[in-house]
Amino acid sequence: MRQTDVVMSISNIRKSYRAPGYKVEALKSVSFDLHKGEFIAVMGTSGSGKSTLLNILGALDNPDEGSMVVKGIKNANIFNEPDATFFRGENIGFIFQSYNLLKDLTVEENIALPLILKDVKAHEIEKLVSRMLALIGLEKWRRHRPVQLSGGQQQRVAIGRALITSPPIILADEPTGNLDFNTSNEILHVLLDLKEKLNQSIILVTHDPQVAAFADRVLFFHDGDIVDEHICIDKDKDMESILLKFKHTMRPKP
Ligand code: ADP
Ligand code: MG
Repeated sequence: MRQTDVVMSISNIRKSYRAPGYKVEALKSVSFDLHKGEFIAVMGTSGSGKSTLLNILGALDNPDEGSMVVKGIKNANIFNEPDATFFRGENIGFIFQSYNLLKDLTVEENIALPLILKDVKAHEIEKLVSRMLALIGLEKWRRHRPVQLSGGQQQRVAIGRALITSPPIILADEPTGNLDFNTSNEILHVLLDLKEKLNQSIILVTHDPQVAAFADRVLFFHDGDIVDEHICIDKDKDMESILLKFKHTMRPKP
């Protein structure tokens, strides 16, 4: 991929958590580029820094050191308000393991929320939400509330909400972690379909090699470092290599 296609580039990101008698180096010195339309899967043991990474990429948290360049622009204030909120609004769609939907709002209202917060006009909201409902296959459910939906359907609503503002970057932290195999597969295909249609760049944390095999590239984390990488070429063969590399990653260092 060409260098000009880089949408987000991070260099030497470090983050530790400290309290009296407690210090964890959650990220040691992490650098990588995300390209336009690229799907990166992040795998690693529990506590290896995956969520910390995603929170920093989405400017929900700030690193101790390091820099982030987005669409060629380096903003030293990106992790501070009000720039952080502005950056998120323009660039990032988050999908979490817990769907974080507002239970008193209908499906279409949940999806419309980011547009309402951006003061988009009502007729434009109606158009965008209808298109999104078709993309995520929930047209018949638009007036239902989250409790009336299955886990997979709720996660689709969360995806719809994350993508409704057409953010160039999707950050997904174990989005299929609460779902059974079939539903998880279904959600993954919704994401892949959106990547195909909207050329979305995606960074997705998963512990499932079958999910990671759909990515273009897999980064393996251990103890706050990227310790291995896999470029995906052929899904079936990739899964085996991913599983092997993941197992190797989990082995304690001698
Ligand atoms: P992962 O998502 O890979 O499981 P995390 O990024 O959540 O890992 O955590 C990385 C390390 O940082 C872990 O050791 C975790 O206990 C620690 N950590 C994460 N968030 C905090 C926090 N807010 N305060 C203190 N320690 C934290
Ligand atoms: Mg995590």
